[in-house]
Amino acid sequence: MDYSNEKLINYLKEHNIKPSTIRMKVLNYLFMNKTHPTVDDIYKSLKEEIPTLSKTSIYNTLDLFLEKGIVKVLSLQEKELRYDIDTNLHAHFKCEKCGKLYDFPISPNFFNDDHLDGFIINDRDIHLYGICKECNDK
Ligand SMILES: [Zn+2]
Ligand SMILES: [Zn+2]
Repeated sequence: MDYSNEKLINYLKEHNIKPSTIRMKVLNYLFMNKTHPTVDDIYKSLKEEIPTLSKTSIYNTLDLFLEKGIVKVLSLQEKELRYDIDTNLHAHFKCEKCGKLYDFPISPNFFNDDHLDGFIINDRDIHLYGICKECNDK
């Protein structure tokens, strides 16, 4: 089930983003598809609903979301960037067989910051690569 327009509008407003049809559609897509989609994934899915949609408008929307801190961009060992609506600290596991990207929790003290005295940390990314349980069990 899709998120209600009211919910989407409120969420955008809470993050100082002026609601528009495309912003609401992209936000809804991200909430409904927590699979870390690429611009292409989003474009293909929304194109049917909005025939006038361009990839540029999706890029612009995601850039704005990024600036406002409601998405994170993931740069994995892939050609295309993926977007994550979950901005809380968590790690990713990329299966090299099925390509699926898994979220898993990590504790903040997973990092040993002792060696970073005097450094300022703005962002943290942990990406693991291997074979997921599902593929391994086959
Ligand atoms: Zn797999
Ligand atoms: Zn994630």
